[in-house]
Formats: sequence, structure tokens, C-alpha cells
Amino acid sequence: MTVFCLERALLPEGWRERVTLAVDPEGRIASVAPERGEGEPIRGVVLPGLPNLHSHAFQRAMAGLAETREAGEDGFWSWRVLLYRFLARLGPEEIEAIAAFAYAEMLEAGFTSVGEFHYLHHDPDGRPYAEPAELALRHVRAAQETGIGLTLLPSFYAHGDVGGAPASEGQRRFLCDLDRFARIHEAAARALRALPGGNIGIAPHSLRAVTPEELRRLVELFPEGPLHLHASEQPREVEACRRVHGTTPIALLAETIGLPARLCVIHGTHATANERRELAASPATLGLCPITEANLGDGVFLAAAFVQEGGRFGIGSDSNVQIDAAAELRQLEYGQRLVLMRRSCLSAPDRSSGRLLFEAALHGGARALGREPAGLRPGAWADFLVLDPDHPDLFGRSGDRLLDGWIFCAGKSAVREVYCRGRRVVEGGRHRARERLFARYRRALEGLVA
Ligand SMILES: [Zn+2]
Repeated sequence: MTVFCLERALLPEGWRERVTLAVDPEGRIASVAPERGEGEPIRGVVLPGLPNLHSHAFQRAMAGLAETREAGEDGFWSWRVLLYRFLARLGPEEIEAIAAFAYAEMLEAGFTSVGEFHYLHHDPDGRPYAEPAELALRHVRAAQETGIGLTLLPSFYAHGDVGGAPASEGQRRFLCDLDRFARIHEAAARALRALPGGNIGIAPHSLRAVTPEELRRLVELFPEGPLHLHASEQPREVEACRRVHGTTPIALLAETIGLPARLCVIHGTHATANERRELAASPATLGLCPITEANLGDGVFLAAAFVQEGGRFGIGSDSNVQIDAAAELRQLEYGQRLVLMRRSCLSAPDRSSGRLLFEAALHGGARALGREPAGLRPGAWADFLVLDPDHPDLFGRSGDRLLDGWIFCAGKSAVREVYCRGRRVVEGGRHRARERLFARYRRALEGLVA
């Protein structure tokens, strides 16, 4: 048993001091006792680590490379063309190096777990590797190397558009039939059972890539674990769904498999008011990726209404164009402010916006990644971060003002230490293996980003 004494910590019941936190050998919290003052001291402001519920790690290497205006329409679809061109050059070594560096950066930014929505399965010609789960296993290794808690979500991707249209050449690395998918899933599940803090789910990519019949079949074949799916990210997808199925994507999803607790709908940006209310009334989670959605010009989901209606959400760094847990929450709130033209949209009277954003993302993210319970409580993983109390945006503050200072001002520059399953992986704001991981990342990118 490892025992820590946390100077100040956010517990489920609120802010407490001199908290004695005992961690069992597996890395779960055994007990929490405020005002006890025993154990190895941790000075600073301790928060539970946030789940990053949606990542495509390899896209980290493209960050900042798609910011030149293309001729004609410049939006999600032209960005995707660039993405396909880029990934035609990535092999297993590069993918592992990029994922490991991205996971180290996530830890430095306050994310202690990640949902890797993994759709890149085959070689650049679309042929399976000798080990069909090769690229899934590379992500498992990246998690092992960095210490992040991985929920791997192998993606099933079979078609190019709504209605079962054939896939394009750029999509051939993603394609599976159900048998091939089952083989990848089995090998990945085996590796994840051996990974501390590992977990597996499934990710039918979207209603563009999966037909309703296939979706139903997948849910029958894999009845356990998280289930993630992109939906209603773009108006064009919603229109195609209306044209082919006579209804909108989230309504079609609800009709086909319901909206169970294991489901996480990624984006939902263009959900209708009825879809939003139905999702809010269900036990499912919505996965918002505010920075990526802003970067891609997707639009703004009306999260303020969704929260009022009782909906649960988590956040994801998605394209990894920027990796910063606090900045995601800030972008989410600012998107609402810009649309609604008022302040503190995701808050309640006399409550701090930072606290509400943080707790919603903590609990929603843990549900979406199959990592409940969340927070500093017995049975949860001992995943936490320590904010620097002497940071210019935090000194002299207490309680929820610390959260507001972190989220609205400081961002990742205030994250001093991070612990995963009771072990310190970030010190002085840097991942313990940062230098080595960055050197490998740099080598992997030579020739790719010219
Ligand atoms: Zn995505």
C-alpha cells in the first residue's frame, strides 16, 4: 500500500485539506481520509485526472499543417483529403512513436486516461499486416510506455458513405468485414487484459461507414464495454442520412440500438432539438471535442441546453491539434458564450463555471470509457494531477477559484505533477520519458512534414 498526504484536494464531497490517500498495489484508491495528515506529502492542488474520451493519436503529427486555405470550399471535407494523403505514408513504427508522444503530452496536460478511437488498421495499400491487430497493439505499447490508462476502441469501418456506398482509395487502411474486425478485437483484447489500467470497447465508425444492419450485428457480437460512434458532426452527413433513411443520424441510432449507458455519441454537433432531448434523457454520454470542432469549422453544439436537460458529456482532444484538458473546457464554455451572448453558460446560479465543467467532464468521461467510479474515492484508479499553487494564475486562491484559474487562465502550464494508478509519470510539468519520446517522435516525422 502506498500512502500520500495531499495538501489540498477536490474530493467528491468538495475541497478538503491534509487528505490521506491510500493506494493498493494494483493502483486503485483503497481509502480517503481528510484532515488526517499521514503519508508521503504532496504539496499543491490535487484534482482527479480527466478522461480524454476521444483521440485519433496519429493525427497529432498533422497539427498545424492544415492551416493554409485550400482553393474552393475549405472545411472538414478538404481537411479529410489532406489527412488521407498524410496517413498513406505512416507505418507501424511512426504510428507508435506519434501515439507515445501524444499520450505523454496528454498526461502533461492533465488527462490521465484516453479513449483511442482506432480506425487505422492496415498497411498503406489496404492489406492486413501479418498480425492483423498490429496497429492496435502499437497503441497498447504507447500506453504502456507512458502510463496513461487506455480504453482502446477498435473501429469498424466498411463503407464510404451513408447507405453502404463503396469506400474510396483513401479509406482502404480502415476497412474491415465482421470477421476481420473480430480478429483484430480479439488480439487487442488479449493485450489490454495484460495492460495495467487497460480496457476495450468497440467503435462502429459512423453511420457513413456502417449500415444500421451492421451496427445491430456488432452490438450483438460485442455486448460488453464502451460503444463509441461519430454522429451529426457535419450538415452533409445529416442530409445524406435524411435522404437515405428518412431520418437524422442520432434518431436512426436510437431506433437501431437504443441509447444505452455504454454508448458515447461523438460530436452530435448538428443534433436536432428532439435528438438532443432524447440523448439528455438517456444514460448515454455525448463526447464533445471543442478545440477540434472549432478547428474544423464543424459548428457549435448547444451544450448549455443539453446540460439543463440533464445530459451528460465528456471531452476529447480528437485530432490533437492542441492537447490541453483545461483549454478544451474553456473552448466549450466560450463557444456557448459566443452563440448565446452571455457568460457562465454551463453553470448554475452562484456556482463556478470551472467546477461544473470539470465535474461533468470527469464523470461523463469515466462513464464513456468504462472507467467508473470517477474521482478521488475508494475503488477508483489513483489517477490525479497536482496544480502548482504558486502559478501566477493560481496563487492566493482557494476552492473553486483554483479550478476557474486553471481552466480560464493557466491551462496546462499549471500542471506540475501527474500520477497514474498511484505512480508519478509527470514531474515539473514534463513526462518522465519526454526526451526519449520526443527524439523518437522527431525521427518518425522526418520526411513526413516537409
Ligand atoms: Zn473522431
